[in-house]
Amino acid sequence: MNSSEATADAMRAHIERLLAQHEIRHYWIKGTAAADAYALRDSVFGDRIGIPRVRGELTYALALHEIGHILGAHQNSPDVMTREREAWRWARDNAIKWTPKMEHYAARLLLSYERWEQEARTREAELRAQLAASPAVGSSPCPDDDLADQRYNEERMREIASLWEEGE
Ligand SMILES: [Zn+2]
Repeated sequence: MNSSEATADAMRAHIERLLAQHEIRHYWIKGTAAADAYALRDSVFGDRIGIPRVRGELTYALALHEIGHILGAHQNSPDVMTREREAWRWARDNAIKWTPKMEHYAARLLLSYERWEQEARTREAELRAQLAASPAVGSSPCPDDDLADQRYNEERMREIASLWEEGE
């Protein structure tokens, strides 16, 4: 076994230890796309996360980040960027190692989120302006709009997913 395999084993073991220690229910997602990973805080059925199996530094960072959404600070904040930043902070503070590659990955994912948030806000403003300008359309959004928004969001998530697929 070479040293990078030893490190991958140590990182994998660390994630498994954290999941067991904090009794976090988890699901292993297929692939390594950041956009497929998730953390759900649920006071009724219990918190749970979906993470890729740890293969290297980036999947390790991503797994820590999702755990950070459960154990990190300010995870009840209404501001998504606060929650994201704090989950990354938790990941960085609790990692057995944190490399420049991992920091770069975290920074780029945060940036994607920021851009996505900005685009969503711009789009919302545009839709509101359209609704305001059109007397035939009521103020309550119709189901088709919701569906269109959902499709738009899914497309954006796929874009982010394709950007950050880990090639380890
Ligand atoms: Zn996150």
